[in-house]
This record gives sequence, C-alpha cells and structure tokens, in this order.
Amino acid sequence: MNLFLTFDYELFFGSPTGSMEKCILSPTEKLLAIARRRNVKFTFFVDVGYLIQLKKWGKQFPELIETHEKITQQLIQLTAEGHDIQLHIHPHWETAEFINGLWQFSMDDHYKLTDFSLQEAEHIIRTYKSTLENIIGKKVNGFRAGGWCLQPFKHFSSIFKACGIKIDSTVLQGGHMETKHYYFDFRDAPDKGRYNFKDNLCQEDPSGHFLELPIGGYKYNPGFFWRLYVLGRIMPRRHKMVGDGNFISQGGKKYESLKRPIWDHVSCDGYYASKLNSITNKFNREKRSDLVIIGHPKSMTQYSFEKLNQFIQVQQKKHTFLTLAQAE
Ligand SMILES: [Zn+2]
Repeated sequence: MNLFLTFDYELFFGSPTGSMEKCILSPTEKLLAIARRRNVKFTFFVDVGYLIQLKKWGKQFPELIETHEKITQQLIQLTAEGHDIQLHIHPHWETAEFINGLWQFSMDDHYKLTDFSLQEAEHIIRTYKSTLENIIGKKVNGFRAGGWCLQPFKHFSSIFKACGIKIDSTVLQGGHMETKHYYFDFRDAPDKGRYNFKDNLCQEDPSGHFLELPIGGYKYNPGFFWRLYVLGRIMPRRHKMVGDGNFISQGGKKYESLKRPIWDHVSCDGYYASKLNSITNKFNREKRSDLVIIGHPKSMTQYSFEKLNQFIQVQQKKHTFLTLAQAE
C-alpha cells in the first residue's frame, strides 16, 4: 500500500489565528526532523492566501515582511530536502485585515471558492498557484481545497485543467458537513484508494483528466473522544496542540462526538495519531491501494510527534511512503 503523509501548512481561522512561529514554523521544523530521521518525504499543502496578505499588509506593518521571509525560507528548505509542496486555498484570506496585530476575516459568504464568482475564483486559483511556484521555483500540480469545500467541482474543472492542476486530495472519504461556512458531501465517493474523475469529485471516470487521492475516513467511537478529552486534562503538556490559535466553530461537533460514533479523517494530529497503526492495518487488510493521512503542523502535540515517528518506523517495513507528486 502507498501511504501519503500530508500536512496543511496554515494558521488557525478562528480568533485568534495564532502565530506563524507556533502554528507553522516550529512544528514544521519538528516534522522535518522526523522526516530526516526516518528518511521519508511529506507533502505540504501551503495556504498561499496567507503569504499574499503578509506581503500586502507588510507595506504598513514591516514585521509581516519578516514573517513572510521566514516562511519563504522554510518552503525553499522543504523543497530542497525533497518534500512536496502543493497548493491549498482558503479564499477567505481575500477579505483579511490586519488590525491591532490580529488577522480578521469576514468569513460569511467568503469561506469557500464557490462563494466567489467564477471570474474571482479563477483569479484566486491562478494568482495563488503562481505565487507559490515563484517561491519554490517549480511548478505545482496538486491541490487541496480549504475546509474540503470544492463542490460542485464542475465550476472549476476547466480552470484546473488550464492551470495544470491534475491531482486532487480534497475528498474526505465518506465525509459530509453542512454548516454556515462549510459545505461538502463525499458520502457517494468511490470507496477506494485512488480514482480518476472528470467534473464530479465523487464520480469515478477512468478516462477522467484528474486523479483523486482521497483522505482516509474512519468511524471513531465516543470512547476515543472521551480518552482525548480526559488526557488533555490530566496530561496537558503532552496532549496540548502546539499551535496557539483557535478553530472556527463546526457547529457542536465536539459534543456530538462524545455521544455517538463520528466519521472523521485519518490523521496524525494530536490524539488521532494513536489510531494510525490500527487504521493502516485495516485498510491494508481491505487491499486498498493508497491511504492519505492528513495532518496540520499547528495541531500536532508532543504525543503526536512521537506517535508519528513510531508509525513511520513500523509501517515503512511493510508499505511505501510517497508524496502527492510521486502518485502518478
Ligand atoms: Zn486548510
């Protein structure tokens, strides 16, 4: 089986968004140390809207230029060490303002690419992609939508094609969410490690131009979330997220998860990392070709860094770790 360790390289989007140092720079350094030790490569989906706004607001606030410079240096280093840098778009950065040292967004009607006109969306996709390519000095061909919101995809298929985006990893297998900001419905997505598609993210088409590598999905029992909840309280240092920001609300999901099983991503974030080996073994028994694992530098914990390292050590004897670019 091919295993993909993928990280969304971004701040938080609640209030506050957290600092670049703690949400991005320093946890990515720790991930890099693991990658070097285990000799594997990761895929980073870079939230380019942030970089664009750092430059724009840096004209008024020079410290933001410094922040931009540090991220740029890290992205260049990641590329030099063979990690895969791909495009991640949270288009609400278009509405960002930097006020009293904090980022503020008007998220309503601006969270998803589908909240924008087709012309605006095309401009965003093209600008963000070329900005990233100019930083790392190479073309990118992979994509993950912010908040997994990219439906209906038929709006974007011709833009993606024209821009040279070929591989998508937005689909969260079996996932579904409709809230004020989010919309995705992947309940009909093919139950397999990879598939080609044309205009519909959830419909396999062997002659389709695009390749989907869906993020693995798994049903977590309430016991899992109770353990997470208790451990966070009795061992906060080990189980506290390294990032210093807050998530945007997902409509009571936290409380639901303590009551009934919840379908969620296969992830190396925080306590989710405890399930990585057993879920990988399950997917392998099911003869799946690929498993994409999602993570976020900001959501790592001391515990999840250790678990991730052990996970790679165990699984690299049996499976192949690939980057998105190596998938084709
Ligand atoms: Zn994201």
